[in-house]
Amino acid sequence: MVSYKELGLVNTREMFAKAIKGGYAIPAFNFNNMEQLQAIIKAAAEEKSPVILQVSKGARNYANATLLRYMAQGAVAYAKELGWENPQIVLHLDHGDSFELCKSCIDSGFSSVMIDGSHLPYEENVALTKQVVDYAHQYDVTVEGELGVLAGVEDEVSSDHHTYTDPEEVIDFATRTGCDSLAISIGTSHGAYKFTPEQCTRDPKTGLLVPPPLAFEVLDAVMEKLPGFPIVLHGSSSVPQEYVKTINELGGKLPDAIGIPEEELRKAAKSAVCKINIDSDSRLAMTAAIRKVFTDKPGEFDPRKYLGPARDEMERLYKHKIENVLGSNGKAE
Ligand SMILES: [Zn+2]
Repeated sequence: MVSYKELGLVNTREMFAKAIKGGYAIPAFNFNNMEQLQAIIKAAAEEKSPVILQVSKGARNYANATLLRYMAQGAVAYAKELGWENPQIVLHLDHGDSFELCKSCIDSGFSSVMIDGSHLPYEENVALTKQVVDYAHQYDVTVEGELGVLAGVEDEVSSDHHTYTDPEEVIDFATRTGCDSLAISIGTSHGAYKFTPEQCTRDPKTGLLVPPPLAFEVLDAVMEKLPGFPIVLHGSSSVPQEYVKTINELGGKLPDAIGIPEEELRKAAKSAVCKINIDSDSRLAMTAAIRKVFTDKPGEFDPRKYLGPARDEMERLYKHKIENVLGSNGKAE
């Protein structure tokens, strides 16, 4: 058993309370390799932004659970080396699907876990979430639950439709499970294809797809039922069209990839939404940068020469999100 406190990590409790009061949100960036982690830590350290490092079950399988945990430990030391005296870094399990997986993460030094029982019947979701909370709270690890179903694909999590969170269920769920934060479904979605072209309208000037608006009325109703309770938005990449364009022009194939407009996320960040999950955007930044190197310098075969530019591009993206979408810069001096 390794406590996250020994690793210099923090849980989400105080971080979320401050974010709700301050009208900003904490970035939750997924990572599964060194370059992503370096980019996240450099961006957070320079921006002095609290940050949540997210690891999915798929990432743990890809990178090796032990190695990932030591990477997170190293991230704290690296942040300090970069001049961030009191790094506010959370190591969080994204979409935990069983008690055993959550326990394994808690036992190996995670400071926060998500248990996603949103696909289960309501009573089973309550029971599973409570079981994880009861274990996690013994070690002061915070727990995110989920109500409602997001559409899209993310690692092993996929659904072809979304079901908005029912605001009538949130008080009962939060009270009976004791969870520390709640992921809700208001129309965000996993992956780089958040909406089909049929769900969108087309801007006559640019020819670009315009997605349908998020269901802010559902968010408002949830906040009315649970005043001041930390709310989480998954699937909140914006799918920057300049990356999609670069990828498609340089031999890639991402037709009609579309995300959530940053305008809507800025609005959400000012509310009780205090954690916004962004994964696809960094994948797109990385892919676009690598394609560019491969196109410009076909003879290049040193991974540092294409992963380096990819890392720089991800860092730019993370800083942009922190400063211009979440507003979390300067909140962890
Ligand atoms: Zn998610």
